[in-house]
Amino acid sequence: MGQRVYSSRLLGRDESLVFHGGGNTSVKISQKNIFGEDEALLYVKGSGWDLATIEAAGFSPCRMAHLLRLAGLAELSDLRMAAELKGCMTNPSAPAPSVEAILHAVLPARFVDHTHADAFISVTNTPGGAERVREVYGDRVVVVPYVMPGFKLARAFAELFPRESSARTIGVALLSHGLISFGDTAEESYVRMIELVAMAEEYLDRRKAWTVDWPAAAGRPRPIRAELAAFRRDLSAAMGAPAILRAQDDARSLGFIGRPDVGLISQQGPATPDHVIRTKRVPMIGRNLAAYRRDYEAYFGACEERSNPRPVALDPAPRVILDPEWGVVVVGRTARDASIAADLYRHTIDIIVRSTALGGWRALPAQDIFDCEYWDLEQAKLRRTGPAPAFAGEVALVTGAASGIGRACVDALLERGAAVVGLDVNADIARMLARPDFLGLPCDLTREADVAAALEAAARAFGGLDMLVLNAGIFPKGSPIGELGSDTWRTIMAVNLDANFVMLRECHPLLKVAPRGGRVVVIGSKNVPAPGPGAAAYSASKAAVNQLARVAALEWGADRIRINTLHPNMVFDTALWTREILESRARHYGMSVEAYRTNNVLRVEVTSRDVAALAAELCGPLFAKTTGAQIPVDGGNERVI
Ligand code: ZN
Repeated sequence: MGQRVYSSRLLGRDESLVFHGGGNTSVKISQKNIFGEDEALLYVKGSGWDLATIEAAGFSPCRMAHLLRLAGLAELSDLRMAAELKGCMTNPSAPAPSVEAILHAVLPARFVDHTHADAFISVTNTPGGAERVREVYGDRVVVVPYVMPGFKLARAFAELFPRESSARTIGVALLSHGLISFGDTAEESYVRMIELVAMAEEYLDRRKAWTVDWPAAAGRPRPIRAELAAFRRDLSAAMGAPAILRAQDDARSLGFIGRPDVGLISQQGPATPDHVIRTKRVPMIGRNLAAYRRDYEAYFGACEERSNPRPVALDPAPRVILDPEWGVVVVGRTARDASIAADLYRHTIDIIVRSTALGGWRALPAQDIFDCEYWDLEQAKLRRTGPAPAFAGEVALVTGAASGIGRACVDALLERGAAVVGLDVNADIARMLARPDFLGLPCDLTREADVAAALEAAARAFGGLDMLVLNAGIFPKGSPIGELGSDTWRTIMAVNLDANFVMLRECHPLLKVAPRGGRVVVIGSKNVPAPGPGAAAYSASKAAVNQLARVAALEWGADRIRINTLHPNMVFDTALWTREILESRARHYGMSVEAYRTNNVLRVEVTSRDVAALAAELCGPLFAKTTGAQIPVDGGNERVI
């Protein structure tokens, strides 16, 4: 099993072989069952695991005897097959076995590897692809004509393999699908896979169809954020839920879109059945959603007539958009989905371009694509899907996101399913979190050009803006008005007031096209209702922002934008409050640190997480009908109450 895990990860880490849960591997092991008898088991990759990061627990143990009997059935629906695969596991809490489990069982080798290697797909998805594959591999592989993954493929394979394999066979070529290798050891199977892929690469290289050169992308084009966000609103309506969009204008994306034959080669179909669900049948060219929908419905209608039972229609919105100006725009219900679609389409471009260079790109016939898109296993998965997180598909921006309340807001919004853009003057923000639903951008909010660039990058990353948390602010050392320097005053106003005004103004065009309406949360201060001596500039800046928010609430209500303010107090788990400062303040009031921390009406400690949770909920449905509100988060303050 250790070897199985090791070489599975090697395969999984090579994006040109498998990506995002694609591909699968297995090992056959004999184990003692509860009765002390030896039993042959197939440990096959479980669903939900990625080969790149798989562990022993990611393999599902299935009884070989049961799998081999299933392979002998004349017919079996894929839904029933999935149930049988689960039913023959020796560990009921293991993940559901791969739908290709029977195929692995049938192969008479201990280790089996299966990939969807780009190079192989480029060779097979061409006119005469079957002949090319035979030319590449000769008698080293058994060639299996395209059959949809699932029981039908396992069945076809079980018949064909014993008949056509020989002592020279090291693998299987599944036309328009992928490669299989096998061996007595993990190493043998792995080396054979690499060998098979290399043979396809060399074949392409000899025909000048391997290396792809893209012209260098031109300089940054004009800002697109407002039109991209408006397009996202319409696309979200077509999908029935807010969507994440990612616009990519790298050399490959623009180079592909710029090809004179893009209208032809991009519209043939996806690279493999695995791509269909994430990238849809074909990308949309340009921005005409209505036309795309008409084409989709015509295709669906024609295929549907031949399908029984009638499938549940998927939303007719594209997942990949090719736009000469925006680049390749990928779409997902979540940032993770969009990121997977981006990876899949990047590989699709390489595959299509290489096939075209080889002699023509040809995808599967429409009916085969339809059968994958509306596969009953996928349909069952759709029906099982539970409720989405509150902010799935939505985008939030948090200022001052690197620490304290801002950082806690990032976490609270991510927890609720939003994609989050974090701005901070601290450059570490760029590396704060490595995940597809977070973008950290260093930004000096007092520079308007920085703000515009950050919003542009945010829109390109996620498609628009639904929620804005204005948190960034500075709290200078206390000083009475008589000693307050003009420079200090101006600095505080620039960060705490002017920057928030610019942010609101620049975000308004994005917020007003948010699919569910825009929301703004301003992190105010207890100092607004209850100021203290020695903090004139801070209190004045927060009071001015408070008034700005109230005016925005009045002006933007008609745009369905809600804006509410939180007034936190004594939040000590932030960078401002070091242990020393806390001790000195406590001493100043003749209190213990503990008593000082909870010096409020409720005698509770207020944390960043408390403030962030309320900020996130203010953006949610509980407060759908609240705007212009000011809510204290301070444990109760006698001067405020
Ligand atoms: Zn496959």
